[in-house]
Amino acid sequence: MLIKSRRATQKFEPAYLRLFESGELKRRVERALALLQSCTACPRNCRVDRLADKFAVCRTGRYAIVSSYGPHHGEEDCLRGWRGSGTIFMSGCNLRCVFCQNFDISWQLRGAVTPPEKLAQMMLELQEQGCHNSNFVTPEHVVPQIIEALPLAIEGGLHLPIVYNTGAYDSMESLELTDGVVDIYMPDFKYWDSEMARKYSKAPDYPEVARRAIKEMYRQVGDLVMDENGLAKRGLLIRHLVMPADIAGTREVTRWIARELSPTTYVNLMPQYYPAGKVSRNEYTEINRRITLSEYERALDEAWGAGLKRLDPRRPSCLGIF
Ligand code: SF4
Repeated sequence: MLIKSRRATQKFEPAYLRLFESGELKRRVERALALLQSCTACPRNCRVDRLADKFAVCRTGRYAIVSSYGPHHGEEDCLRGWRGSGTIFMSGCNLRCVFCQNFDISWQLRGAVTPPEKLAQMMLELQEQGCHNSNFVTPEHVVPQIIEALPLAIEGGLHLPIVYNTGAYDSMESLELTDGVVDIYMPDFKYWDSEMARKYSKAPDYPEVARRAIKEMYRQVGDLVMDENGLAKRGLLIRHLVMPADIAGTREVTRWIARELSPTTYVNLMPQYYPAGKVSRNEYTEINRRITLSEYERALDEAWGAGLKRLDPRRPSCLGIF
């Protein structure tokens, strides 16, 4: 399989440093906090006052809740490199899929309330440990809190690329805030079909929202660019979890990516689905199994057939499941 790497030709500097120096980042913090007052930070538009620590679907009030943070060696090679991706796992979620593989984090909110000073400290600690990037996992509902913490981290010397590791249920208001802040967008495009999104994530508008959000992400950062060591520095990396009985709509998703974004969009077709969360022998039985080898091979064929040219090559450990 031929995977073309686009190489960064200039010394990397994260985009947010320019916003910080111009004073724009300070204005973004003000706008971000205003979003929390009648919360429209994500497409749920709950309109609760999170500045007063009220919460709704995401069950997160004034401050982010962090379940854990540390160097992560399970991400794509271009993110984990050799010293790990500096992941910060946010608790709570605006989607709360029934098959969530982080059920205790997203549904049960395991973690610690984390004010901006502490969040900034986490980013700096991960940088100190040698991580290649600052990777926010499930950030959709805490974009304002991340923006609030960023100037503090920059004052402390943060210079890593920021990875926005999202389920793609993002509002345009949040993406306006992250424009010029996020270097690498990593949305997981979960469903093509609105009925599937309603059934498994209670978000019938998910496909429409995700398409709009991912287009905006691509507009902001373009195709994924790597440096001479194969580390991602800037751009879009789309994940797509291949699901049993094709409930994710892989054919349509990959065709849309090739047609509406670019055939050179970097895509990771993920085979590692396993039943979790609310999925059991009694509930959601149709997805109470792993995918088969032939289902995964079909998904790959569909992606190549759609014209995609940059599929993530690292699959061997996952293939062990078949
Ligand atoms: S971020 Fe949370 S409170 Fe705000 S709109 Fe989304 S789900 Fe609702």
